[in-house]
Amino acid sequence: MADCIFCRIAAKEIPATAVYEDDSVIAFKDLEPQAPVHVLIIPKKHIKSLLGLTQEDRALVAHIHVDVVPQLAKELGLAEKGFRVVVNTGEEGGQTVGHLHFHLLGGRSMQWPPG
Ligand code: C5P
Repeated sequence: MADCIFCRIAAKEIPATAVYEDDSVIAFKDLEPQAPVHVLIIPKKHIKSLLGLTQEDRALVAHIHVDVVPQLAKELGLAEKGFRVVVNTGEEGGQTVGHLHFHLLGGRSMQWPPG
């Protein structure tokens, strides 16, 4: 989508510091990190939110969770102490960018409940 900032990052039209990329996924450093490690993992194809997923996205979502998150957690030094994956969804969920993204946060102790 031409007016979607994350589609434009995936298309390399807007610069971002990528930490992972394959055919279907790109991960890059969040511009306003909320933890020492704060990476956004996004599907390259435009999906508005968790609520926009369809059956055909099953393999993509599994790939992100089964392959990409653990790989990045290990590469970024988060595997030993742990990390958090967050998917803000919709207005009250705190979603500000309308392109599905998985926050990978770590490098500090996380609080519960989240704000
Ligand atoms: O979950 P939410 O939609 O609020 O997350 C959007 C995230 O995208 C924010 O953490 C924001 O800092 C990040 N962002 C970014 N680069 C942009 C625009 C937003 O890292 N160009």
